[in-house]
Amino acid sequence: MQTYLVRTFGCQMNKHDSERVSGLLKASGLTPAVEPETADVIVFMTCCVREKADERLAGQVASLKALKAVRPEALIAVGGCIGQRDGERLLEALPHVDVVFGTHNLSHLPALLETAASERHSVVEVLDATENFTSDLPSEREHAWHAWVPIAVGCDNFCSYCVVPYVRGRERSRRLEDIIAECTGLADDGVLEVTLLGQNVNSYGRDLYGEPRFADVLRAVASTGIERIRFATSHPKDLSEATIRAIAETPEVMNALHLPVQSGSNRVLEAMNRGYTRERYLSLVDRLYDALPSLALSTDVIVGFPGETSEDFEKTLDVVRRARYDQAFTFIYSPREGTPAAALAAQSAAAGDATPHEFIQARFDRLVGEVQRSALDKNRALVGSTQRVLVEGPSRRDPHMLAGRCEGNKVVHVPVPSGRTAEQFAGTFADVRITGAQTWFLTGELAGTNDL
Ligand code: SAH
Ligand code: SF4
Repeated sequence: MQTYLVRTFGCQMNKHDSERVSGLLKASGLTPAVEPETADVIVFMTCCVREKADERLAGQVASLKALKAVRPEALIAVGGCIGQRDGERLLEALPHVDVVFGTHNLSHLPALLETAASERHSVVEVLDATENFTSDLPSEREHAWHAWVPIAVGCDNFCSYCVVPYVRGRERSRRLEDIIAECTGLADDGVLEVTLLGQNVNSYGRDLYGEPRFADVLRAVASTGIERIRFATSHPKDLSEATIRAIAETPEVMNALHLPVQSGSNRVLEAMNRGYTRERYLSLVDRLYDALPSLALSTDVIVGFPGETSEDFEKTLDVVRRARYDQAFTFIYSPREGTPAAALAAQSAAAGDATPHEFIQARFDRLVGEVQRSALDKNRALVGSTQRVLVEGPSRRDPHMLAGRCEGNKVVHVPVPSGRTAEQFAGTFADVRITGAQTWFLTGELAGTNDL
């Protein structure tokens, strides 16, 4: 085993886990493969939150059959949420997989690969609970200036549609001093921005300290030398006044909040087990805009939850209009085996009263239209302002443009000044005067650079 490749699906926690897998493999002496065809080890960090993610994994792993025919010594490992969910079962569908591991034991991957290589048979190891936080492990960061920092893993909320509590386990917070120690080390290592991760960051600390202490985390991380702090995800039922104050009073904490609403209908919210009403959600949004006037607000919305009527959907559209989102991730409901909502969906299918797919698709398209209008409105309001942008490098579409992110986490494109290259700006802050707004990005011109 000399070279490795990691393919990541799904959420930010998986991106973080993949950086840890890369760090572990590097520490075991492997180097990144340039081409997938030449990799000795291919690791898939998987997602099963919706059916599409399942299908994509199956397609990609199946396509490696040809590779295994030519290079039988190459090892394929499947980890993350599908590994956790399926364990041994995964080998029935994909027998050419060599290692299956779960969400709780990624530190064992190098040893599992060794066993698979030396014993020449598939190895499966899935544990029931996390032993250690993965951030106690080495990491190979995608960007030198950004780090993912998990502050809690797992989830206790059991929203009725969601598989996460089953594949990521019960909520477990990480000790505050360990978070601070990691962030201090990251700041010393040149990291400018961290994203604090948890399924529900607002309930951070409840298991450890008997009360939520997310506001303390924000203030403490701000004192480590990290310049920008982002976090995800905020569950609306647990967003406290103390957290809103910490965001408002701590300049390092970005005024950007991901606050998934899922639905705007009280009937559906109750069936989803979300723990809030549309009225409570909207009054929270009002409080947020009062306390944080320049807030960039984003959300997740599910369309076509079992039993959702067109009246329910109109209520969702209404919330989307009122909340003035900067961005929204929109999903068509996908039944996940073992969840209460999947049982509901099966019942309505059996009774023949499931909403036809084309109706759901039409709702989805209207929702996307509403979100786009809202995003464009919010972006237009920024034209004329000056934004501090953390430059990531050249824009993917045009190497003569810099791409970076402003406080609200929006992509900003700026022409590279003559005589310079985009790479020179990567990982630096630039002040940018915003001159144009599109739905999904802003354009601007350099008003000054802090670091060059
Ligand atoms: N912990 C986060 C989100 C985790 S999953 C939270 O509570 O907000 C990310 C998003 O996927 C969810 O917010 C939801 O909108 C969507 N999602 C989860 N399960 C789904 C399902 N079965 N069908 C469609 N969308 C789903
Ligand atoms: Fe899933 Fe709900 Fe937990 Fe989010 S809060 S991970 S949607 S169960």
